[in-house]
Amino acid sequence: MVHLLINFAGDVHLAQAVKSFLSSHNVVSNIYMLPEGDEISVTLEKNNGRNGKRLIKEILRSYLDSHNLTRYQITELENILTVGIPKSIDEISTLLMCEICGWRLTTEEELLIHRRTHWF
Ligand SMILES: [Zn+2]
Repeated sequence: MVHLLINFAGDVHLAQAVKSFLSSHNVVSNIYMLPEGDEISVTLEKNNGRNGKRLIKEILRSYLDSHNLTRYQITELENILTVGIPKSIDEISTLLMCEICGWRLTTEEELLIHRRTHWF
């Protein structure tokens, strides 16, 4: 038996959607999730043990790609798979950008002040 944890980094809705998606695959012999949890506990069939983790990753990847969630990445640490958008990319996308030089700033005020440097 192989046990895996799949963590969705706080994304409860994605966790629920993936849980029902995984349940439809017969690779999985048991699947469990706390209500409103962001982590799925998966038990794999004995004869799928060796390649089970790779199989689960492939299923997760195909789910993400078919739902246009290509920015989500699956990272692996022993028997824990984490599904989420890498922080750095996520943070950069929320920053404001100076349209003149491409400088990144966190607030409107900073952007206004920064823009003035181009006026001289
Ligand atoms: Zn600038």
